[in-house]
Amino acid sequence: MIQYLATARERPAWQAVPAEVRQDLDEPVPLDGSDPAAVYRQFKKDVLPYPTGNIHPRFWGWVMGTGTPLAMLADMLASGMNAHVAGYDQAAAVVERQVIRWLIELLGFPSGASGLLVSGASAANLVGLTVARQAKAGFDVRERGLQGTSPALRVYASAETHGWVDKSCQLLGLGTTSLRRIPVDGEYRIDVDALREAIRRDRGNGHRPICVIGNAGTVNTGATDDLAALAGLCRDEDLWFHVDGAFGALAALSPVLRPALAGMELADSLAFDLHKWGYLPYEVGIALVRDETVHRGAFATTSAYLSGARRGIAVDVLFFADLGLQLSRAFRGLKVWMSLKTHGVHAWRQLIEQNVDQARYLAGRIRDHASLELLAPVPLNVVCFRYVEPGLDAAQLDAVNEEVLLRVQESGFAVPSSTTLGGRFAIRVANTNHRSRREDFDGLVEAVLATGRAVTAEHARGRRRA
Ligand SMILES: *Cc1c(COP(=O)(O)O)cnc(C)c1O
Repeated sequence: MIQYLATARERPAWQAVPAEVRQDLDEPVPLDGSDPAAVYRQFKKDVLPYPTGNIHPRFWGWVMGTGTPLAMLADMLASGMNAHVAGYDQAAAVVERQVIRWLIELLGFPSGASGLLVSGASAANLVGLTVARQAKAGFDVRERGLQGTSPALRVYASAETHGWVDKSCQLLGLGTTSLRRIPVDGEYRIDVDALREAIRRDRGNGHRPICVIGNAGTVNTGATDDLAALAGLCRDEDLWFHVDGAFGALAALSPVLRPALAGMELADSLAFDLHKWGYLPYEVGIALVRDETVHRGAFATTSAYLSGARRGIAVDVLFFADLGLQLSRAFRGLKVWMSLKTHGVHAWRQLIEQNVDQARYLAGRIRDHASLELLAPVPLNVVCFRYVEPGLDAAQLDAVNEEVLLRVQESGFAVPSSTTLGGRFAIRVANTNHRSRREDFDGLVEAVLATGRAVTAEHARGRRRA
């Protein structure tokens, strides 16, 4: 696997799973065992060559992490120990608490805050919103549930907020009607005046606002809301302030990038990933909650078979389990601990700054070229753009760019993804890739230009024939 990672650049950024491989993998349940060497050979032949591709230096689709060799080894150690980190008196729990204290300090949260390592930002955001609901509903939601409650609870987030918020509102019984999607300004940041007005209107209609969600790095364009303004508004309105910083929160490690995140440290809860801009392998994200008592109050349970003991292994038996959904928990903390100790925070900071510099470099190349158009500001590491040519109408530009994107992906050269901005199809590059070099972005520009020319020429020929 070390060799595999070292040679990632030599393979395609992505390739489809061939039909014969799918066929190979379509097997009956193995009732009897077989030779592990043969199973391993099949892994090497049928599985290993067809990954998502996010370990590749030119993979910039969605927001995916690249993973590091050191953390891969840490995961193997953790799996070998097979620690059960619900809590208990064990070194794994001590290490995990240490890691959480480090992250609390790095993100500027108060030292008494609590944290929970989870599968990723979706789970971490759900933790934050669950605590918000219990803290601000005005009654004991855990006891009464939300059946027939009045007034109706309301949650606020910008139109650019990631889809986790819809899922979470659904799972928490709030329903998507409780979610107010607030419009954004020209830089894709929440319109704070519109937010204030929406809260006022909801109160006027007898609803109960409970939580405002701010973004530190939106998935579409990398925009960060005015978090200080949101913190102030939440204080004035007695609302829970939650921040989704899935990738953007870690920009706080950089003194250059930190000012844009001012106010994030005032959040009541904050969710972010370590498997995106922390470069660690899946899955690891974290939920931080300012007030540990409130955090525990939203999840802690009691049961005879899991009661804490005065001494022995079961001291703090549910230390982590009482902060979230999971009882059985993997030892996610080990790869974070080993990575931070081995590489140091400065390596993370330097790579994050490098990714932002590369995004700005790409944006510059796009601005400089008449056949390319930047479709959104580039405040962080996300670049949205398209190929343009005079004489193409809006629908043709969308069709051409979609085809360009698919061909670039299928060529195996690079993997950007797409989004729609102001009704326009955008090729989207999100750079959380520590293996990318500047020339990889030059290569992308050349590939998009060449493919754009080819696709428009084909379209023109097609139109002439028609
Ligand atoms: C990726 C992402 C999420 C979801 O995080 P997962 O780790 O995939 O669960 C939420 N919000 C934003 C802004 C993201 O980029």
